Amino acid sequence: LWKVYRVGEVAVNALSGVSLGVRRGEFVALMGPSGAGKTTLLNMIGGLDRPTSGTIYVKGLELSSLNERELTEFRLKEVGFVFQLYNLIPVLTALENVQLPTIPAGLPRDESRRRAIRLLERVGLGDRLHHRPSELSGGEQQRVAIARALINDPSILLADEITGNVDTPTAHRILDLIGELVEERGLTVIAATHDPEVTKVAPRIVRMRDGRIIGDEA
Ligand code: ADP
Ligand code: MG
Repeated sequence: LWKVYRVGEVAVNALSGVSLGVRRGEFVALMGPSGAGKTTLLNMIGGLDRPTSGTIYVKGLELSSLNERELTEFRLKEVGFVFQLYNLIPVLTALENVQLPTIPAGLPRDESRRRAIRLLERVGLGDRLHHRPSELSGGEQQRVAIARALINDPSILLADEITGNVDTPTAHRILDLIGELVEERGLTVIAATHDPEVTKVAPRIVRMRDGRIIGDEA
């Protein structure tokens, strides 16, 4: 994959020939300093942005062959995103935030509610269903965001610096939770981070620098 961003006269090579294969059920940590291209790569895999050149296959589907409507469908059904800043809707409760992606997916209301409650219980927030984000700690908000990312039962979870905003014990709990979800659901996780702690949990570490992969180790 190659990705060139043009800013005025300047061309930024965010990805310069990245080649990566990830198997179903793998938990991959994408490590590298700021500016290495981690977020750019996650955005390509999740269909949020398109590469300048190169091809992405997810479950045999070539993303560049999809039109905008099909790409939206792909993002909704196959991919769960979790971000550093949680991106929860402030006026909605934890339960409503988790249910939100089921609306465009067309899931019946009662099924959506059942699933959301089950997921919030799974991430340890069964007693926080009706709290708003401002009434939750950073770690709790991140767990709501993880539940929301899983509500449409995606095959891939893309996590971008999700432990960047919480203390170390909370980061450990979040990473352990993700490790468990990989096992339980056969989820494929790609987690971008510059937090070395993730190497204790993720079985595979891919290292990036300057838009290239410079290491790939178990
Ligand atoms: P990381 O997530 O590893 O910190 P990014 O993927 O965000 O790295 O960025 C890789 C490079 O691409 C950086 O040099 C960054 O400045 C540049 N970049 C990222 N997004 C854009 C954009 N939308 N426009 C221009 N340059 C960008
Ligand atoms: Mg980034």
